[in-house]
Amino acid sequence: PETITVQELANRMSERAVDVVRLLMKQGQMIKITDVIESDTAQLIAEEMGHTVRRVAESDVEEGLFAKSDDEAVQVARPPVVTIMGHVDHGKTSLLDAIRQTNVVSGEAGGITQHIGAYQVSAPSGDKVTFIDTPGHAAFTAMRARGAKVTDIVILVVAADDGVMPQTVEAIAHAKAAEVPIIVAINKIDKPDAKPERVRTELLQHDIVVESLGGDTIEVEVSAKQKLNLDKLLEMINLQAEILDLKAAVNTAAEGIVIEAKLDKGRGPVATVLIQRGTLHQGDIVVAGSQWGKVRALNSDLGQPVTDAGPSAPVEVLGFGGTPEAGDRVAVVESEARAREITAYRERLRREKQAARSTGARGSLEQMMS
Ligand code: GDP
Ligand code: MG
Repeated sequence: PETITVQELANRMSERAVDVVRLLMKQGQMIKITDVIESDTAQLIAEEMGHTVRRVAESDVEEGLFAKSDDEAVQVARPPVVTIMGHVDHGKTSLLDAIRQTNVVSGEAGGITQHIGAYQVSAPSGDKVTFIDTPGHAAFTAMRARGAKVTDIVILVVAADDGVMPQTVEAIAHAKAAEVPIIVAINKIDKPDAKPERVRTELLQHDIVVESLGGDTIEVEVSAKQKLNLDKLLEMINLQAEILDLKAAVNTAAEGIVIEAKLDKGRGPVATVLIQRGTLHQGDIVVAGSQWGKVRALNSDLGQPVTDAGPSAPVEVLGFGGTPEAGDRVAVVESEARAREITAYRERLRREKQAARSTGARGSLEQMMS
């Protein structure tokens, strides 16, 4: 149930907290100013004290924020958002890097690649693919734990010389739990001891039946090292994306998710945001978790300044007042006042939840001692 502290209730009514406590005592409740009471009790107290009660659920605030009319929104096909997962040393970083045609593995050669946690490439067909580049499993689980669905497709990298290993199995479990389709990339096929057939057979034990064995999981043999079949992999990703029929509105206020965020000494809070629908513009007022700001600058994954970013684009956002957290939902709101209201509300909820937890613990201790 929803709760509120006595102090907060008094504040909202512009009453003295001691008077609220007194009233509660009259009703036989021994409660301190810092204690938490349930919203039903709070409502009774407020009415008793002659106030009209308007209860605002968290869902109201969130809905006001996220539910927009799609009547006039134009739905367009959007690029797939892909996460690469797999066992350590099977070549996740090498593959991402080879796809991006740069050289992160051997130490940021030339410094062209700046790491922002996500990037976008074009397939030979011209279709774009967005890769999430934050350390695989951790980011994936953290975001899932917070209810954020980010990835459309998981690329499961399995080294052909090593086969299915514990983290391969873990990755399969993650993808299945999230109901995200898997494309298997059998990597390191350039190696003399590569056994791609063995990988296919081992995957069977984990209910992954690849196409060449009559199943419906797309598989591609690749070599990140020799850059073999990378175009084919991109093509397969786009094929899978077509099957998923990924669409998003473009001409609405942007919504997205924080992929990474840090406090930069010179630039202040910097957040990499994956836009999920709508278009983000310079000058927009954005809310992310309990932070908000006016978008001062937007940078593409290549570090180029851009004026706006549409669905599935990863973009660096500057202008937040504080550093948001990875997994925070991002939304554009109509005014600074609204942004303040929402972030203050979330902050208050957070504090109340914390307070409720600590009184909850004390409550059970008291029960134990009585
Ligand atoms: P990660 O831990 O999954 O990110 O794996 P890395 O990308 O760091 O690769 C681990 C090792 O495998 C590195 O020494 C890579 O050079 C090597 N490697 C990656 N892909 C290939 C490949 O296709 N062929 C060969 N021969 N080696 C590869
Ligand atoms: Mg790596």
